[in-house]
Order: sequence, then C-alpha cells, then structure tokens
Amino acid sequence: MKAAIISIGNELLSGLTVDTNAAFLSERLMSVGVATVCGYTVGDDVEMISEAIGNAARHADVILITGGLGPTDDDLTRTALASFLGVELLLDNGLLREIAEFFKKRNYHMADKNRVQAYLPKGASALTNELGTAPGIMAKYQGKTIVCMPGVPYEMKKMFDDSVLSIFAGAERVVISKKLRCFGAGESTVAERLGDLMERGRNPLINCTVDASVITLHIVATADSSDEARAMIAGDETRLRSILGPIVYGVDGETLGGAVGKILASRRKTISVAESCTGGLLAKMLTDTPDSSEYFAYGWVTYCNEAKVSQLGVDGDIIAAHGAVSEPVAAEMAAGARKRGGSDIGIGITGIAGPGGGSEQKPVGLVYICIDLGGESVVKRYVFPHSREKVRLRSALTALDLLRHRLHD
Ligand code: AMP
Ligand code: MG
Repeated sequence: MKAAIISIGNELLSGLTVDTNAAFLSERLMSVGVATVCGYTVGDDVEMISEAIGNAARHADVILITGGLGPTDDDLTRTALASFLGVELLLDNGLLREIAEFFKKRNYHMADKNRVQAYLPKGASALTNELGTAPGIMAKYQGKTIVCMPGVPYEMKKMFDDSVLSIFAGAERVVISKKLRCFGAGESTVAERLGDLMERGRNPLINCTVDASVITLHIVATADSSDEARAMIAGDETRLRSILGPIVYGVDGETLGGAVGKILASRRKTISVAESCTGGLLAKMLTDTPDSSEYFAYGWVTYCNEAKVSQLGVDGDIIAAHGAVSEPVAAEMAAGARKRGGSDIGIGITGIAGPGGGSEQKPVGLVYICIDLGGESVVKRYVFPHSREKVRLRSALTALDLLRHRLHD
C-alpha cells in the first residue's frame, strides 16, 4: 500500500507555519509499514488542491490531506475535493447537529459560517473531530481512499489515530526503520565510506540526513514480516557500525547529551561544567534527559573575567597574559568546575561566538574546550565556521563528543 500526503494552506507556502503534519503522518505511516511515495504542499486554491489530489491519486492508494477544512473563505479543501470527484456538496443534517452541539456544550455562539463544515461531497462520509469543529472527510475514488483532516495538528493527530490508522491494517508488506546517530564526520565522508550501501533501490534502503551537525543514517527495511525486516536492519546496523566505528553514538531519538549521560551513569561519574560562549547550552544538553541528577552536579556561565576568577578560581594573571579565550583559561575553567563542583569531571569552554569580537590571531569561531578527568586535562582548539548560533551549538556538541571519546578510551 502506498500513501501520498497533501498539506494545504498559504501559511505553509509562505514559511509562516512549518509543516509538522506531513512529518507526523509519514512517521506514523512508516510505523505501520506504509510507504509515503509523494507529498505536496499547496495554497488555499481550489484548482491547485484538486490538481494535487489528481497527481497524488496517480501514485498512491491512500491520499491523506490536512488543512483547509475550517469555516472561513480560505478553507477550500471541501470544495476542491467535490470538484475533483465531480460531485456536488450536500448538507449533512446529522453533521450540522453535531457541530451545533459542539458549540452548545462549550457555551460558544455558532457563527453562520460554521454551517459550511456540515457539507460533504456526495458519497463521502464524515470523520468525527472530538477536539474541534472541522469534521474530517473520507471518500473513495477509483478504488483509492482520500482522507481530509483538519490542519490544527492536535486535532489532526487524534483524528488520524482514532479513525484513519485502522484503514492501513493488513497491509501485506512491512516497512520498519531504525536510525543510527553519528557525530564527528561530515555527510560526504560518511557517504563515501558507505559506498554501495547507499545505492538507491537497495533493500534495506539507507538514507542520510544532517541536522545541527548530527548525521542520521536511516535504515529502512521492507519485508513480508516484521521479524524479517528487523533481522535485515540488524544485519545492516552491524555492517554500518563496523564501517563507521566510534562516530556512531546512538540510535533512534538518542541525543549526544543523552548518550554521554548514559555512559556517566553507568560509570558512576559526576560532572560539572564551566561555560562562557555557549551560555549554558552544554549544561542544558546534559540535563535534557530525565534522571540527569545522577551525574550532573553544577553548571556555571562565567561570561566576564571577574566571574571566571571569583566563581571558578581562574588566575587573573593568566587571563591578563593569554586573554579569556585561550588554552590555559579553558583548562583552569575545567579544573575550577571539577573542584568547586566536587565532581569527577570538569569541562571548560571559552570562545568567540561572534559576529563581532574577532581578531587576526583570535578569529570569530575560535573555541577552546577542556575536558578534565580527575585532574588529567586535555584542551582542544577549534575554529568553527558559520553563525553565532552554529558556533555555540558545535562547541557544546563537540565538548560532549570529546568527553564521550575520553570515557571510551
Ligand atoms: P486549517 O485547517 O487550514 O484551518 O488550519 C488551521 C491551522 O492549523 C493553521 O492556521 C495552521 O496554524 C495549522 N496548520 C495547518 N496545516 C498545518 C501543517 N501542515 N502543519 C502544521 N500546522 C498546520
Ligand atoms: Mg487553512
């Protein structure tokens, strides 16, 4: 069974709203073994919408549409679907009563405009919306199923899980995916190392995506049973891990902070961090996971020199001699955090996030990171490219990755 997703709304085209509905639906479909073969984003326009339905119907068995079911003049999905099917829109009195009831229960006035939501293309049926006034629509077209759901994400999700998901039961082929999360190599390097494994049309299919410096390899296996698909994934996972080695830090939704936390918890080590240019981002990443209190003790954001001296015990003369962004200051920050936090491990980060404040010797993006393991400290120097946001993000992630490698050694 193949699916297509159509997201409707001018706000999606203008970038005002990010299309989270399509992402949700693709992921859900994948989990029940249905491949999404195409997706369309169209504005609030009857012709565009019915054209998209026609295109989708050429490639998919089930067409999932979200958006454009509201009561206002820019909500045109109903009209477009009727026009595509070549049928008229008919008032469903039962549906009208349900909508009126929805308002009555909440003591809201029902505007006349809401009456349009009780119209359905002839032959179509309604899907209950427990959380809003826009009922969904289910229609058949040449043996294919067309489903329209509201745009509001939480209404759509409930409707999909309650009334739509069941139509996929009994799909013959199973699709299962697993993600391998990697840090510490570029996308092209990873792709080069994988070679033929990334060939299109291969099963399992291996896709590569990058988000915030983290590379994700998606292993997507299609098989007759979930056991068979899982076995195929396990085989590929072993292969990928042996090719990529330690750059693979985790699987599925795991973050680098979470992976490091797991190692710290299993080794019963505690950590304190002293940050300057990352402004607390490293502490956040280490404490995003539940139960991080098992290993995380203290975090300092020491932005000015006085704070580095008074809070962490950094030697003011060293700052004067080398500057706040320097190797010895990173080392003293890490040592200060470790000692004053009473922890096994200290991390110090100092750098120039930019866009201003750089010089020839110390350019924007220059960052020193020190990992101090029980007094044994290693400082690394980096010059991270791009924006302030990227420099900060890369700094915090790199600190976590350095620690991960030190703990593995
Ligand atoms: P509509 O059903 O078209 O009236 O959409 C209602 C609201 O849902 C819009 O104003 C958006 O804020 C939101 N919305 C619509 N489509 C999407 C989508 N694909 N992803 C995320 N939010 C959406
Ligand atoms: Mg809309």
